[in-house]
Amino acid sequence: LYTFKVNYAARQASLQNQIESGHLHALLVTHLTNVRYLCGFTGSSASLLVLEDRCVFFSDGRYTEQARQEVRNAKIVIAAKSPFTAAAEWISNHQPGSPFVLGIEADHLTVSERSRLAKALPRRSRLRQAPNWIEKLRMVKDADEIAQIRAAVNLGASLFPHLLRSTHPPEKEVDVAAELEYAARKSGAEGMSFPTIIASGKRSSLPHARATNAAIPKSGFVVCDFGVILAGCCSDMTRTVHVGRPGRAAREFYAAVLEAQQAATAAARPGVSVGEVDRAARIVLQRRGLGKYFTHSTGHGVGLEIHEAPRFAANGSEILEPGMIITVEPGAYIPGKYGVRIEDMILITEAGHEVLTPVSKELFTI
Ligand code: ZN
Ligand code: ZN
Repeated sequence: LYTFKVNYAARQASLQNQIESGHLHALLVTHLTNVRYLCGFTGSSASLLVLEDRCVFFSDGRYTEQARQEVRNAKIVIAAKSPFTAAAEWISNHQPGSPFVLGIEADHLTVSERSRLAKALPRRSRLRQAPNWIEKLRMVKDADEIAQIRAAVNLGASLFPHLLRSTHPPEKEVDVAAELEYAARKSGAEGMSFPTIIASGKRSSLPHARATNAAIPKSGFVVCDFGVILAGCCSDMTRTVHVGRPGRAAREFYAAVLEAQQAATAAARPGVSVGEVDRAARIVLQRRGLGKYFTHSTGHGVGLEIHEAPRFAANGSEILEPGMIITVEPGAYIPGKYGVRIEDMILITEAGHEVLTPVSKELFTI
């Protein structure tokens, strides 16, 4: 397994500062990606109790050995009950009687889990929704994470020539996707970041079409959106290729989306809001009369998760900072006709940005 160095102590310390200034006694981390980010555990059942001066990790018996191998900078507790109930009992045993204010991740705890947690806590303790502190920390990547994500992006990009070779009529979309995913695993990917999108012909107008049994047509666009996971880090790229010679309208349509993609990329630098990056793409497509066909946001953060902060709401106010890694992926989709999307991953740098995806954006014809 490809691994890289992570300073878990520094991540935990940043979070502990927030917990203290947020007037909580502890934060119970239940989102597994956040648990992984803070202590390295990659299994499927865990919670991490982050107190002011230490971290306690909870999992069940299936993970006794794995926890010992992976978990850094936290005391390990293996319990017979659910990891968050075990955390509540740990609090009861270690902080009896004191009014304990426990932060929870509101986006990552179900209503029933919350009530079970409340019942298991000592009397006079309170649950409070914590802000998305960990998601904010995860937005800005350090040098090691950047190197790792770059490796994932390069692995993903190295599959593109393979994809071009297998995208041929009358090959089925699912077969093109299957061959890509097989090649990804053979090249060392742990898996795909998401189910590969191969949307050909009229189906290219569906922005999030999954690959189907439809055959690649003799002529038309094919939207290919895919990514790999390497050491937990995701990549994400989209290229739209054309089978057969594209007509003038199709070429102009592609050129408009490419211009929007380049305008948004050019706008991305420290101090600029994600809303401004989004607007840069939108203005180009509006000028070409295609504004109404651009039906999603321009990008998203990428890291341990394929979609993470910052999120590009239309008027998103999140400000770009050096170390953020985002996608820039405008598209235009005319229902029943065709669609085009072009997506790169970019790194925000002190000087502006660096395009990470090393694949040409000229229109490939097959
Ligand atoms: Zn994508
Ligand atoms: Zn994306």
